[in-house]
Amino acid sequence: MSSGWQVRVCSMLLSWLVLTMAQAQDFPIFDAHIHYSRPDWQAFTPEQILAILDRAGVQRALVSSTPDDGTLQLYAVAPQRIVPFLRPYRTPEDMGSWPNDPAVQAYVEERLQRGIYKGIGEFHLSATQADAPTVRRFAALAVQRQLFFHAHVDDGTVEKLLRLYPQVRILWAHAGMSAPAATVGRLLEQHAHLWVELSLRSDVAPDGRLDPTWRTVFLKHPDRFMVGTDTWTTSRWHDLIPGLQRVRSWLHQLPRDVAELISYRNAERLFGKP
Ligand SMILES: [Zn+2]
Repeated sequence: MSSGWQVRVCSMLLSWLVLTMAQAQDFPIFDAHIHYSRPDWQAFTPEQILAILDRAGVQRALVSSTPDDGTLQLYAVAPQRIVPFLRPYRTPEDMGSWPNDPAVQAYVEERLQRGIYKGIGEFHLSATQADAPTVRRFAALAVQRQLFFHAHVDDGTVEKLLRLYPQVRILWAHAGMSAPAATVGRLLEQHAHLWVELSLRSDVAPDGRLDPTWRTVFLKHPDRFMVGTDTWTTSRWHDLIPGLQRVRSWLHQLPRDVAELISYRNAERLFGKP
């Protein structure tokens, strides 16, 4: 083997290594939408979950679970990395009935005594339920204890929540799942207490190219967005690493300072550094 050839291979390997390391170090991620719910406990131990987060470059994560014990398991092994949110679901059956359920209210009030939670949610809600008794009580608790709502609701419902509870800060799950970028931008302009996470929003970068309307909204409101995965079912854990690679590829298409705000700095500012 000629030494010139060896040098070429070496330098190729070196540049590959540098590129890989640069990508790995790029954009530490705050994942603003993780669940570790009961079915996940059979598939992955808390230590295995942390190993997945390591490999995905997730520095910290907002976690809520059905039931909440999943969040507590992760928090027990990594309190620096887990930002606990209290989900008002003891079982998946609570999803539809919680807004009018005094037992859910008691569950949440009792759990909040731990003092570790940064918010209530992720919860689902329709516009007609926005002023139901348990929702009203949660809003009062959120104001009292400086908690966020993590709300999986459509654009009409998030607007109603913001009007009914103007003192509550809301993290809008999935940017409403189907709300157009322009609608998200309008709501951010009108409501200072609204932040948005982009889990499951593949329309941000169809085919890997950052959508121009989303880009405009990101540049206009760089301090209001976060990224996330949403491990709503166990199989989602297998997509966490490739999913966040796709997120990184559109973050790279933004100015570096804006991308860093969205990838982790906004979350650090709102939920505190470890
Ligand atoms: Zn979710």
